[in-house]
Amino acid sequence: MALSTLNELNSPSKNHLYKDIGLDQWPIIYCANYNIGFLGMEKLHPFDSSKWRSVVRFLRDAQMITNATIVQPNEATKEDLLTVHTRRYLSSLKWSINVARVLEVAPIAVLPSFLVQRKVLRPLRYQTGGTILAGKLALERGWAINIGGGFHHCSSDRGGGFCAYADLTLLIKNLFTYYSDRVKKVLIVDLDAHQGNGYEHDFLNDDRVFIMDMYNRQIYPHDHEAKSAIKCKVELTNHTNDKTYLRLLHINLEKSLNEFRPDFVVYNAGTDILEGDPLGNLNITPEGVVVRDEIVFSKCIRDKQLPIVMCTSDGIEHKRIFVLFSGSKGKDGHSWCPDCVAAEKPIEEAVKSSLPSNGVFIECFVGDRASWKDTNCPFRTDSQTRLTDIPTLVEWGTPKRLVERELLDTETIKILFEED
Ligand SMILES: [Zn+2]
Repeated sequence: MALSTLNELNSPSKNHLYKDIGLDQWPIIYCANYNIGFLGMEKLHPFDSSKWRSVVRFLRDAQMITNATIVQPNEATKEDLLTVHTRRYLSSLKWSINVARVLEVAPIAVLPSFLVQRKVLRPLRYQTGGTILAGKLALERGWAINIGGGFHHCSSDRGGGFCAYADLTLLIKNLFTYYSDRVKKVLIVDLDAHQGNGYEHDFLNDDRVFIMDMYNRQIYPHDHEAKSAIKCKVELTNHTNDKTYLRLLHINLEKSLNEFRPDFVVYNAGTDILEGDPLGNLNITPEGVVVRDEIVFSKCIRDKQLPIVMCTSDGIEHKRIFVLFSGSKGKDGHSWCPDCVAAEKPIEEAVKSSLPSNGVFIECFVGDRASWKDTNCPFRTDSQTRLTDIPTLVEWGTPKRLVERELLDTETIKILFEED
């Protein structure tokens, strides 16, 4: 094939995810379709995150950013995903039980597949499209931020830790394909509290990618095989503080940049390093997170003029999950269980007004009357649910639960939503 034809085939305009943006728009990517949830009751808002604030502070021009200037990505299609993922893996996601395993949210296993596809996987495909688009925008503008994505536990053939698609691998492989003249060496800086074992598997023997991963070695995923892909490994222990963290970041980022001399940087900026995060187990203050981001941006952009993509890496692993168990609805749209019907309004009111910004609300139907009354009903016997009555509202992974009459009072439900 002639070289010109090849170049044409790989022209960025051939990639539907690489949309053009207006001069009045900032390379900040987000859309309402990112939100995972059921019944439209979710309430996740990007402006609430400390991540967002720190970025805005770095840019020093908060007034310039409005909803209208934010870039909305396209959804990554099956064809897009197949450039990295195996068919076998993508097919496995057709089964709710596999999605539940990947996302580590057990109630998903009992949801019908079409709901999981529409309400869980589709938002993740939008976020994946956003990460891929960020690559193009960073080349045009010098930097780009996806307020989502950063699914660093997913590789081409395996999901896990709430990561269903390997968006970081896809981002980099697309850059190598469509911008082969400009992007030859990519540095990944992964500062999420967890080891980024997904893309590490994908780039195990790839010299075009240099991985700097700084993570708490005492928490998930303990992936020893993947560790051999890390060229600059900074292992932290529980309760690492700002001083130690920022010093290690400073030294190791400088070292990685000088040793590898990348022409592109991918920054995975998880905020689970914050003190009090139940999973990260590190003690970084909000101010420390701001300084962290400033170190990365200033070393890459100000000192080296390197294009950089930042993903916020805020998976469901950092969220509080509330599950409402109720009787399935009939053709008329009403549950057969009168208590569940009575609780609908107060629950909806509480969710609308008080679901925390990091909260995800999931409604799970336990079946028709006969299957619920059966003493072998899995919702009664399963050690993770152990239901005795419906409706029941639980905060997943905690002992907090409200049952039957307690769910008739909006104020009681609001208390469940409050932070401890
Ligand atoms: Zn994490």
